Amino acid sequence: MTLIALITGANKGIGYETARLLGERGMTVLVGARSEELGQKAAQALREGGVDARFLQIDVTDDASVQRAADHVGAEYGHLDVLVNNAGIVGDVEGARGGPSAATRAALRQVFEANVFGVVAVTNAFLPLLRNAEAARIVNVSSEVGSLTFMSDPEHPLHQLATIPYPASKTALNMVTVMYAKELRDTPIKVNAANPSHCATDLTRHTGSRTPEQGALVSVALATLPADGPSGRFWGDGAPAADAELPW
Ligand code: NAP
Repeated sequence: MTLIALITGANKGIGYETARLLGERGMTVLVGARSEELGQKAAQALREGGVDARFLQIDVTDDASVQRAADHVGAEYGHLDVLVNNAGIVGDVEGARGGPSAATRAALRQVFEANVFGVVAVTNAFLPLLRNAEAARIVNVSSEVGSLTFMSDPEHPLHQLATIPYPASKTALNMVTVMYAKELRDTPIKVNAANPSHCATDLTRHTGSRTPEQGALVSVALATLPADGPSGRFWGDGAPAADAELPW
């Protein structure tokens, strides 16, 4: 039976590449996008590449949009095999990118709304469908800058980074991952956090040295884990090999 995968924020960047790679592995991919125009365009491009891709409107910050998307997938397929919570932002209001002393309540709200509250809202809306699948996989796209271990290590290459909204949102997302894995530990569902590393996308203003495809590989690996694969852990390139595991 064809597996059904939903990737949020799949109209561009790492999410688009994740959809493409899962589609090339034979899954039907639901191209989650908040913009109908951009989502349809991405799904069309994927179909032209031979992938069974369908646009799904989903703004992770809008409960009505999230519920509509879950209702549609429920009516159409009755289950969901893979959920990649990929949509994420750095934020564009004042205080989103400055130092800790420049952080604003508005920036924290904007970034947490998408990167944390959005993931919980989407996961909870789709959980009944994920439970209906034979062995669902949930991938939360996090970041190494959410690792308290890395960010407090003076030897880490990104140690100089000092800003609150985005890194703190990914730290919170890591906790979200751990908590879902605990609740779901007696089910076949596995929940893991992924670190794509620094990729050239709009989010990084194309400063990353890795391609979006390279960034997508860890999500693909965690979306296709075998039955004896890990859950409730944080991974980088090469997952689920032991040396690809990252510290919280
Ligand atoms: P990107 O190119 O900016 O793509 C982000 C995607 O998320 C876009 O499709 C965007 O849609 C979507 N999105 C944003 N807000 C949304 C919302 N409210 N509802 C639905 N979709 C929304 O960024 P990316 O680099 O591929 O990032 C993908 C994920 O990887 C993010 O979670 C990011 O934090 C994580 N990550 C990236 C890097 C990196 O170096 N690039 C490193 C570590 C982690 P629009 O086109 O409509 O804005």
